[in-house]
Amino acid sequence: MTQLDIIFGKAGDTAIDPVCKMTVPRVNPNGGTADHEGETYYFCGPGCRVAFVTRPATFLANDAAEMGHMDDKECADHAGPDTSV
Ligand SMILES: [Zn+2]
Repeated sequence: MTQLDIIFGKAGDTAIDPVCKMTVPRVNPNGGTADHEGETYYFCGPGCRVAFVTRPATFLANDAAEMGHMDDKECADHAGPDTSV
């Protein structure tokens, strides 16, 4: 896999670590995965996974407030900075 594959071609194969907001591959993430309320979450490392499993609501609340609907890849890729301030 080249770096361009990572940046462009494989964008759909990554997820955001809800704890530290890193981009994590969906295939063999270093920190493994955890299921929570029907969603699968992916982690950069074991520490993030443990933190999430211990207090998932903490990280999901932060995610909703800061990131909006990050699952909407189109929005994440194309929405510019918020200029409404
Ligand atoms: Zn992490």
